[in-house]
Amino acid sequence: MIYKRSSALFVEAQRVIPGGVNSPVRAFKSVGGDPIFVKEAKGAYLYDEDGRTLIDYINSWGPMILGHAYPPVVDAVVTKAQKGTSFGMPTEIETEIAKLAVSMVPSIDKIRFVNSGTEACMSAIRLARGFTNREKIIKFAGCYHGHSDSFLIQAGSGAVTFGSPNSPGVTKGTAKDTLLADYNNLDQIEALFKANPEEIAAIIVEPVAGNMGCIPPKNGFLEGLRSLCDQYNALLIFDEVMTGFRLAKGGVQELKGVQADIVTFGKVIGGGLPVGAFAARDEIMNYLAPLGPVYQAGTLSGNPLAMAAGLAMLTAIDTDKALFTRLEEKTAYLHKGMADALSNHTITHTINRIGSMISVHFAKDEVVDFKTAAAGDNDTFKKFFHGLLAEGIYIAPSAYESWFITDALTYEDLDTTIAAVAKVASTL
Ligand code: PMP
Repeated sequence: MIYKRSSALFVEAQRVIPGGVNSPVRAFKSVGGDPIFVKEAKGAYLYDEDGRTLIDYINSWGPMILGHAYPPVVDAVVTKAQKGTSFGMPTEIETEIAKLAVSMVPSIDKIRFVNSGTEACMSAIRLARGFTNREKIIKFAGCYHGHSDSFLIQAGSGAVTFGSPNSPGVTKGTAKDTLLADYNNLDQIEALFKANPEEIAAIIVEPVAGNMGCIPPKNGFLEGLRSLCDQYNALLIFDEVMTGFRLAKGGVQELKGVQADIVTFGKVIGGGLPVGAFAARDEIMNYLAPLGPVYQAGTLSGNPLAMAAGLAMLTAIDTDKALFTRLEEKTAYLHKGMADALSNHTITHTINRIGSMISVHFAKDEVVDFKTAAAGDNDTFKKFFHGLLAEGIYIAPSAYESWFITDALTYEDLDTTIAAVAKVASTL
C-alpha cells in the first residue's frame, strides 16, 4: 500500500483528535480513504510521509499564492521569532502591514487584525449590527464564512461536505436572525428586504464564491446587492477571505468595481500564518472598542510572527506588477487543457474559473448557485479525485471546493496535470 505511513499516522491521530483532523475538510470522508499526512512542502509540491511528491492544488486552502515555503516569508518569520513571539503590546509592524493593506484595497480606511477568517467574519457582522442597530443578516446558501454560529445556516465547504450545513448547537434564536438566499439571485434579496425593511443589518457575501466550488457572480449581481443595501440602509460585507489579495491586489472590489462597506480577509493576508482581518471606512471602524461601543479583542491578534509573514506576503504581491496576469494565464492554460481532456473522453462537465480560482463540476448545466453545484455527479468526482491522487496530483477531497493556483506552478507542472486528467478521464 503506497500510503502505509499516512494510514498508520491517521490511526494514531484518531485516538486523540476527533476524526483525526483539526479541521473536517482535511478528512477524506466524502471521497473515501485515509487523508494523506504531509511532511513538508516547497514551491508547488507537497512531500508526504510516504515519500511521494504531489503537485498541490489546495495550497493550504488558499494562502500559499506564491508557493510553499516562499523564502521572503520564511526569512521574515525566522528573524522575528528570535526577537520574541508575542507581547500583547502594540508593535510597529502592525501599523506597517495595516498601512500597506489600506493602500492596496479600495474603500477601506482602517483595518483590524484577528487570527482567522472565522473571527474576521464573526466580528464584521457584530460591527454591522452595532453600527446599524439592526439584528438580521442575509447570507447565501452554499457560502461559507467560518464556523461561527450565525453562519452555520446552509453553509458551504466542509459543512456541506459532511452533511452539517445547519449545525446542531446553533440556537434557534441565532438561526432566526440569519436570512437565506440563493447565490446570484437578486429577486430573493429584494423580497427579503421588502419583508424585513428595517431589520437587516447587512448582507454578507463571498463576492466570488469558492465554497461550493468556484462560482463567479453573474453580471450585475454585486452591483444589485450594492444598490439594494443602499436603498434599505443595510451594509454590504464582502467576505474576501478567499479572494482578497488573490484575484487582484484590491480583491473583488477592484476586479469588479463594486464597493463594499466592510471587507473581511484571511488566507493570503497571513502568508500561511493564522491571520484574519476586517476593514471598513473610518465611520464604521470607529465603532469598535476602544474608540466605540462594539467589543472585539484577541490575546494573539497582531502577533509579530503572523504580521511579519503577512507583511512579507503583501509586499511581494504589491511589488510584482505581473503576478495576477501570470496567475490568470496559468489558470486559463490549465482550464483549456482539462476541458479538452474531459471533452475528448465525452465526460459531462462544467469548469468554472475566475483569476486563479478554478473548479471542475461533473454537472451538465451551468453552475451558478448551491443547487446547480449540488447537481454534480459525486461518484464521478470521487473517481476523479482518487485517479488524480494516484497520478501525484492533489486536489481538494470534496466537489464543493475551489482549486487554488499558485505562481510556483510551472507550465511543465500544468502539462503533467493535464496529462493526468486525460488519463483519469479515460477511466471515468
Ligand atoms: N470565509 C471564507 C470565504 C472562507 O473560504 C473561509 C475558510 N475557507 C472562512 C471565511 C473561514 O476562515 P478560517 O478557516 O480561517 O476561519
